[in-house]
This record gives sequence, C-alpha cells and structure tokens, in this order.
Amino acid sequence: MTSSFPIRILTLFPEFFDSPLTTSLTGKAIDRGNFDVELSNIRDFTTDKHNKCDDLPYGGGAGMVMKPEPLVAALEDAREAIPGAPRILLTPQGTPFTQSLARELSRGPGMILTCGRYEGVDERVRQNWIDLEISIGDYVLTGGEVAAMVIVDSVTRLLPGVLGNADSIAEESFSESRLEYPHYTRPQNFRGHEVPEVLLSGHHGKIAQWRRQKALERTQNRRPDLLDDE
Ligand code: SAM
Repeated sequence: MTSSFPIRILTLFPEFFDSPLTTSLTGKAIDRGNFDVELSNIRDFTTDKHNKCDDLPYGGGAGMVMKPEPLVAALEDAREAIPGAPRILLTPQGTPFTQSLARELSRGPGMILTCGRYEGVDERVRQNWIDLEISIGDYVLTGGEVAAMVIVDSVTRLLPGVLGNADSIAEESFSESRLEYPHYTRPQNFRGHEVPEVLLSGHHGKIAQWRRQKALERTQNRRPDLLDDE
C-alpha cells in the first residue's frame, strides 16, 4: 500500500473490479495516487487442497456459508497491511449507508471491505473480526462486490484531489440535508422547452437564491425526511 488512503477488498471474485477501478475518475485518481485499492482473493488464504471457502450450514437449510478460516486469515492479513482501518462487512443486515457515513469513512485511515457470497459469512467472523457492518439498501444482492464498489466510489470521491472541482462536493445532494437544485446546459431552447430565465441573467446573487429555493422545494417534495433530520 502506497497512498495515504489505502483500501483492501476481500473477495472471492477479484476480477469483478477490473472495469470499475480502471474507468473514468476512479481509474485516474488511482493512477495519480489519490488512493489505492488492493484486491485480496479470499481463496488464496485456504490451506486445504480443494481451496474450499464455503460449507454447508449447521442446522441444515438452503445454501452455503462462507467458512471462517480463510476469511479470518484474509482479514488478519489486511489488518496488518492497513493498521487501524475499519474492517467492514457488506451485508443487507448492516447499518444503512449514507453520505454522512461516506464522509466519516473518507477521514481515513483507509478501509477493509469484506464481500460476502452465498448465504453470507459464519456468524463468528461477524462477531469477532468485523468493526462495522454496512448495507447499501433494503434489498438482497448476489454478493458484496457491488456494495463494496458503491462504498469505494462514494468515499473516494470525497478525498482531496479526486474530483477536479471541490465545489461539486460542497453543493451536491445530502451535503446540507438537501437535494441539489436542477441543472441545465445548452441549448437554451430544447424542443420548445426553455432554460429558466434567471440562469441566463448573469446575476450571481439571484442565481444563488433561485438555486437555494429550488433545492428546498425539491427536498420538500421528494425527501421531506431530510429536512426533519436537521
Ligand atoms: N442470507 C443473507 C441474508 O438474508 O441476510 C443474504 C446473503 S446475500 C445473497 C450474499 C452477500 O451479498 C452478503 O453476504 C453480502 O455481502 C452481500 N449483500 C447482499 N445484499 C446486500 C446489501 N443490501 N448491502 C450490502 N451487501 C449486500
């Protein structure tokens, strides 16, 4: 690990991350060294000849459970590589992920993200080797990789130097318990639909006021719960 924000992802499918980690802003930020991601294949930590990472559930029932031995060895290896970083388990049973949690995680010192598969991980791993459990929403995914990528994307875009313009973070949705105001670009008239007059006025004060008003209206209409949180 070389950057000031190291991330380790523990997964059975490291190839899943090939495209998202090399594309667009994320790929560029990694190339620049704003943060780095190391993929740790849980299967590499098996010691049996079949490289077994899952087994039948005690008590019977559907599906398989991720075995503790390779997973804990992978977690211990990650802990040694990034001391102090929270060991996070992606699970639909975790704390709901929010922008404020993304902000908190972006303060560092990095993250260890554990992707479950099958029915999930052996409960003893969750109880003894995990610091934080995160859910990205009330639905069930096939595996934790998509959820881990959501965390990587939302946390790393808050790191210094990742986005070209730091103002985009200051004004965007959830930054002040609001959704963001609407955006327009050229052409001024698109198929009979005009850009609001005030945005063409060049009057910065009026534009800022219009945007504040629209952000508030939009939040009241779509997410009044955000205003209650203030
Ligand atoms: N049996 C589990 C349950 O009912 O809670 C669901 C297991 S799910 C099929 C497999 C893996 O996908 C989980 O271990 C977790 O890592 C990941 N996953 C699924 N839904 C998720 C969500 N909403 N947020 C974060 N991770 C999720």
